Parts: sequence; C-alpha cells; structure tokens
Amino acid sequence: MMQDIHEIYAVRYAHHDRKAHDNYILGDPHDTNEPLAYFVWVIKGAGGTFVLDTGFDQAMAEKRGRRIVKPVAEGLRAVGVNPDSVTDVVISHLHYDHCGNHSLFPQARYHLQDREMIYATGRYMCHGHQRIPFEADDVVAMVRRVFDERVVFHNGSEQLAPGLTVHHVGGHSMGLQCLRVATRRGHVVLAADATHLYSHIEQGRVFPVCYSVAETLEGYATMKRLADSLGHIVPGHDPDVLKRYPAAAPGLEDWVVRLD
Ligand SMILES: [Zn+2]
Ligand SMILES: [Zn+2]
Repeated sequence: MMQDIHEIYAVRYAHHDRKAHDNYILGDPHDTNEPLAYFVWVIKGAGGTFVLDTGFDQAMAEKRGRRIVKPVAEGLRAVGVNPDSVTDVVISHLHYDHCGNHSLFPQARYHLQDREMIYATGRYMCHGHQRIPFEADDVVAMVRRVFDERVVFHNGSEQLAPGLTVHHVGGHSMGLQCLRVATRRGHVVLAADATHLYSHIEQGRVFPVCYSVAETLEGYATMKRLADSLGHIVPGHDPDVLKRYPAAAPGLEDWVVRLD
C-alpha cells in the first residue's frame, strides 16, 4: 500500500498576462486580467521519479510572447531532480508549452498517447487554425525519438507504476492525457490542459484552443471520476495553484508547491 504513495510537486516556469475574455469560448463579461501560469510537474514514488511535461525554453518564450520566470531545469533541481538522470517523461500533449526543451532529458523515455502523435502528424495539421499551438520542431523532435526507440505509446488508460496511471481525455487536443496519482491525501489528478483554470472545470466553460468542445466537457466528468474530489484536480495553467498549496520548501514560494 505505502509503496503506491507518491509526492507531487508543481514547478512554475513561465507567466503570461491576458484578458479574461481570451480564456473562454463565448468570452467573458469582465474586462479583468486573468493571467496564465506555466508548469511542469514532478512525481516521486517507489517506482522512481516521473516528470510530467517539459515546458518551453527562452527562445520559444520570445517567439510566443511569454515570460520565463525560472527555467524548467532550475525548478527541477530545486526539488532534487537532475534532468540528466530522469528516465521517464510523460507528455500530456504536443502543444509548444508542454514538450519543448528538447535536450533537457537525454536519458528519458517519453510517454505519449497514440492519438496525439496521429493528430500532430496527420491531416488536421493542414489547417493553420489547428496548428496554432503546435511547433513543427517539437513534433519532429518527437518523431526522432520514435526512431530512437525512446517513445512509449499509450492508448487510453494505462499504468506507469503502482498508483500512477495515464488516462486519455482528448478535447483540448486529440490525444491529451491526464495523470492520476495515488498520494497520502488520496487520488490526485494532474489535469494539464484538460482544465486550464479552476473556472473551466468548475463552471463547465471551455478554453478557446480546442480540438473538440464536446470531448473537453466529457473530460471534466472523466477527471471528476478519477479524482477523490474536485479539490484533488490540479489545473494546468491556474496561478491560484501557487496560493492553494504550500511551498515545497522555504524559499520556493510562488515557484514550487507541494500538491500531495
Ligand atoms: Zn495545450
Ligand atoms: Zn498548455
């Protein structure tokens, strides 16, 4: 039992100011700022250390008009993780803010849903609108890892270690997956972009970057089934995560928080 229990850390690396109406299909009546935070997550357990998503680097931040707060590598080292020795990286989906920093994990295998690779290399990428959150270099880097036998494909729900499972959600991206983690406080779901902000899942609203609105809404129901409560679901881009959870250690406030 105890060997199923994991520690989880949310590591913030970037920030983007934007208006609330930019965060929802059908907009928002308030003319307020509703910024996005950018995270990667570290899961530590008896089965080893897993990193969920790899973020983006300074060059991509400049290209996309985002601001790096602390580079991903620095955040990982703050919780005792040396990127050089990470063996397993889970990629929630192939959007630019989740799968960059290509040289950061030289030893790692990458866990990806079948449908995300199909989506990122298939006919829907012929449409400029659907390409917006993707970078060709990120997709090519993942294809090269396939040829290097460094990708582990998953289809739907699969176990990575006791108490640690991936689950296909889709919606926001065709092959988006979330991570369900057994912890001392119960089952936590790391949603990544299956809900950007708390408001999306709590109010049944949808972020504008989307493969399927209907699947996005079904995804909220899936995550509520997987998590012990709504309070066990961790959104992928909500700055409030940094306030709701305690700093992982003194000095890491507003940077690395402990989710378990
Ligand atoms: Zn995304
Ligand atoms: Zn994202």
